[in-house]
Amino acid sequence: MISPTGKLMKTGQAHHILDAPGKTGIVISAEHSGVEIPPELGDLGISQKELHRHIGYDIGIEGVVHHLHRLSGHPAILGRYSRLVADVNRPEDSPECVIERSDGTQIPANTGLNGHSRQKRINRYHRPYHTAFAELVRRAKPGCILSVHSFTRKLRTEGIRRPWHCGILYGVPAATAKCCIGHLRKLEGIVVGDNQPYQFDADRLIPPKRVDGRPIPTLVVEIRQDLIENGEGQEKWAAILGGLLEACMADCSGHRTNAGSGE
Ligand SMILES: [Zn+2]
Repeated sequence: MISPTGKLMKTGQAHHILDAPGKTGIVISAEHSGVEIPPELGDLGISQKELHRHIGYDIGIEGVVHHLHRLSGHPAILGRYSRLVADVNRPEDSPECVIERSDGTQIPANTGLNGHSRQKRINRYHRPYHTAFAELVRRAKPGCILSVHSFTRKLRTEGIRRPWHCGILYGVPAATAKCCIGHLRKLEGIVVGDNQPYQFDADRLIPPKRVDGRPIPTLVVEIRQDLIENGEGQEKWAAILGGLLEACMADCSGHRTNAGSGE
């Protein structure tokens, strides 16, 4: 099975893990990196061109995360299937989890699903990702999650050009987020969104932030997709994120984990 960047993926799983045994502190997550559709779902009723728009996956993120994993040594979990199969970055009961229409495109295979079919989709492609994520967190004991995404420069349904090169989305802790924003803004020519292009909304976006009842601080980085469409851009942004981890997330050393879990 070949991923968008040509790397071999394991078959039969909703995720792919880049492991780093013994490394603690940070887990990198990339919920929307994959664009595969399981064979039993055909083509979801949409063209390849539509699937490979931003509605199908986070363009460029898989390459960024592979480079960042190599640079930083932190473990990473990547989604394998298109977010149109089941969006693992949305709650199960959200209409956006198995979305019927996205940025002007109707998804026929998701339209009018009955409760049984919808639940089957979630059981097969949504829950296994979160089970794997929880296992990785128990093993790596991160103090923080770095959730990496990409966004389109212009939504078809809005037509407005977004000015940011990247955005930091956060709820808490604000101090880490402010450090990240300040760090990125010192880099030449980079326009950084502060809780842009999306507001962090824990009810709608679910950076997986609780495992075994323990909250894990999560920072979301959004990179504009046209900057990471090729390998050169992906390497460049992985290096930027590597610098960000060193400058602002060094205190994610796992002490919160230990305090929270009683270890
Ligand atoms: Zn995303």
